[in-house]
This record gives sequence, structure tokens and C-alpha cells, in this order.
Amino acid sequence: MNNFDKTAYWQDIDQAHHIHPFTDTADLNNRGTRVITSAKGVFIEDSNGKRYLDGMAGLWCVNIGYGRKELAEAAYKQMLELPYYNNFFQCANTPAIELSKVLAEITPEGLNHVFYANSGSEANDTVVRMVHQYWNLKGKPERTHIISRKNAYHGSTVAGASLGGMSGMHAQGGSLLRDVVHIDQPYWYGEGGDHTPEEFGLLTARKLEEKIEELGADRVGAFIGEPIQGAGGVIIPPSTYWPEIQRICKKYDILLIADEVICGFGRTGNWFGSETFDIKPDLMPMAKGMSSGYLPISAVMVGERVADVLINQCGEFTHGFTYSGHPAAAAVALENIRIMRDEKMVERVRDDIGPYFRKQLDTLKDHPLAGAVETVGLIAGMPLVDDKKTRKAFDKPGTVGTICRDACVANGVISRACGDRMVLSPPLCITHDEVDELVKRLRAALDDTAKKIGKT
Ligand SMILES: *Cc1c(COP(=O)(O)O)cnc(C)c1O
Repeated sequence: MNNFDKTAYWQDIDQAHHIHPFTDTADLNNRGTRVITSAKGVFIEDSNGKRYLDGMAGLWCVNIGYGRKELAEAAYKQMLELPYYNNFFQCANTPAIELSKVLAEITPEGLNHVFYANSGSEANDTVVRMVHQYWNLKGKPERTHIISRKNAYHGSTVAGASLGGMSGMHAQGGSLLRDVVHIDQPYWYGEGGDHTPEEFGLLTARKLEEKIEELGADRVGAFIGEPIQGAGGVIIPPSTYWPEIQRICKKYDILLIADEVICGFGRTGNWFGSETFDIKPDLMPMAKGMSSGYLPISAVMVGERVADVLINQCGEFTHGFTYSGHPAAAAVALENIRIMRDEKMVERVRDDIGPYFRKQLDTLKDHPLAGAVETVGLIAGMPLVDDKKTRKAFDKPGTVGTICRDACVANGVISRACGDRMVLSPPLCITHDEVDELVKRLRAALDDTAKKIGKT
């Protein structure tokens, strides 16, 4: 067995049987799968023993970092005691009960009820069901439209893909939900032209009002937005955006949904992005950082206005999943939140490592490819551009981003390319030294990219 090549063994099986998410499988099979075998702290390791600094916390989810035994032990203990029982038919399990109280404590005021699911997509499906049922019960069943944004990401189920504004997904979408419409995103760097960011924030927010007027307010049920668009490329809205969106939602009495699947659980330097941007949502789907990705779990926080109707006027709400409030996943989420509280991880992002991350990333601004460096807490977006002065994008969007992403991997750092925006979302436990290392490797990747495209 000495010459046995484990990596080739896994790659062969993977190629033979495994269809990967969001992947061009033929292309993957040409290049070969990177098999990730272990991880600790902010580092992951592949089957060849190569280590990478994970600048993405997996898929924006491993907020407390890899290798926390306490979470494994919480799952183990719970699985021995009660591996599964549902929350249907007058029953509940204790981790789900306790988690509900803890979530009510850490989420913004007014969000005191929770509905469980297993992924961000399922949480957003739940949101759609809730919006429709809410307006049914209010005697306004024609308020079916949900307004979202172009380049939003809300998941990959039929409802998630419909709510999202990813054109590539819509192109393959087939039967998407009819009553979801999309307005422009508040992406000043790429689309703001000669406006100031503040002007552009107002202009894009007012697209909501225009769309409501166009559809008729009596046909609009809700607006959904990520506080910061994550998969869209870490689009941080101008300061004027969210206040104006909320003014409009209030004026037309439509529900406000803040999709906190990425921004939640400390990412922006507060427990929730809604605090960072002073958003007062009626519904708040969350997932990813909720269990730091150790087990799948998600939830929708339900504000008083909707909770009152769904609880007191609905009778049976005919919605739920076999694994809603799964005891092992809930136990892991509880332990995850306990650690984040005890170790003051969120405060550390706000006061210490977040500002340091920004300061060090800012040193990349002198690079010829880096159009800007935009950060909040421990999330960052960096557009790679053809001309920094005019913010001119490259001709074939996504080409340079992909080159840079591959260069990152070669340099031992994981960053993701959303089109030509390089994005980062490292584990919240990242140290100062590791931030230095992250930036060093990123600069090397930028240099390699510039060389490759002949732009130095
Ligand atoms: C990842 C994500 C989702 C979907 O979550 P899944 O667990 O992949 O279904 C939804 N909304 C946002 C903002 C996300 O980033």
C-alpha cells in the first residue's frame, strides 16, 4: 500500500459518482477535485497534506473556527441521550426549547419567536409561506408579491432561487415563483456612475417605491434583502440605503425581511447585520453561523406583528420539516452560541480583529488590480478592475476573478471570486498574525494574477 495514492483514489470515485453543487462537473473532472480532509482553527488541509488559510470560513459559516471539541461533544452527548425526536404533535425536545430562548435573547428586540429549518434555503421557503399566510389571515390574500434585488442570494430551492436575483440561476430555473420581482442593487462601486454613494443609496432604495407604485401597494406583501449581499460579492450598501428602504416599507405597510444567513452571528461586529445597519425586520431568516456549520440548522425569527397573527389567528400553520428543531443540531447551535458569548467573539470582531482586518487589507489598495477594499467587521469585498480611476470593469466579467481565485489557492489561501470581486469572510477566531498571513498570501495571489494577465 506504500505507493497507494489516496488523492487519486478519491478523485476517481468522486468523478465517477458525485455531482457537485454549483459546479461545471466536466470542468471539475478535468482539473480534479481538491479533497479536504481535516481542519483546525482557520486552516484546512487537503489529502496531499497542503494547508490553506481559509479566508471564507467554509461557505461563510465556520464562525467559531474549526476543531472546537465542545461542539463535537455536545452533538455526541445529545445523540446518545435523544438522537432524534420531532417537534410536531404536541412534542418538543429540550435543546430546541432552550435554543429558542437563547435566540430570542441574542436577536434584536421584538424578535421573540422562532421557526426551525435545516438550511438557509428552507428558512427562506418558510419566509415565503409565512408572508403569504400572514396576508391571507389579514384578509389581503392579493398581497402576494415579494420584492427582492438583482444579484441577491437567498438560496437554491425553488423559492430561494426565485427570491434570489442571480441571472444564471434564473436562466436554469424553469418554474420559479411568479410573484417575485427584482429591483436594482445598491452597488455603488460597480453601478453608481457619477453619483455619490449616498445619492446612489437613496436612488436604489427608491426603486422599491417605484416598484410598489407600479404593482400597486395592495399587491405587495414583503421586501427581502441581505443587510450586506454576500454571494453577490459582499455589496455593502451606502449609509442612506437601509433607512430609506425602511421608510418605504412602513409607508406602504409591507413586511421587511432581513436575510441574516451570512450577516448573522457576529460577522459584521454585532450579533446581527440588522444591528449594524439599524434594520427592524419583521422576519429574519438565519443559518450558517448559527451552528458554525458543524451541523445543518436554520431558523426564521418572527417579529411580534407576524407572530401574533400566525399564533393567534391561524389555527394550524401547515408547514414544517421532519428535522425542524433537530435535537443534535440544536444542541450544537446552543454550544456554539455559548462559546461565542463566553469568549466575547462578537465584541472582539467589533473592537479588535475587525478594525485590524480592515487596516491590514487596506494596505492592498496600492495594488494595480485592487479597485477598492470594502469591509464591515470580518467580511470584505475587493473589486478587481481594469482602471482604478474610472472604476472600469474588465471586459469578460469573471475571468480575472477566476484567475485570482486559483492564484489564491496556489498561494495557500481560500478566497472566493464573485464575478471579479474577491471576497473574504474568515472565521471570527482569526488572530492578528493570521490576518497578516492572509493579507500576505492575498498580495502574492494578486501579483500572480497581474502577471498572468500582463497588467503590472
Ligand atoms: C447561503 C445563503 C442562503 C442559503 O443557505 P443554504 O443553507 O445554502 O440553503 C440564503 N441566504 C443567504 C444570504 C445565504 O448566504
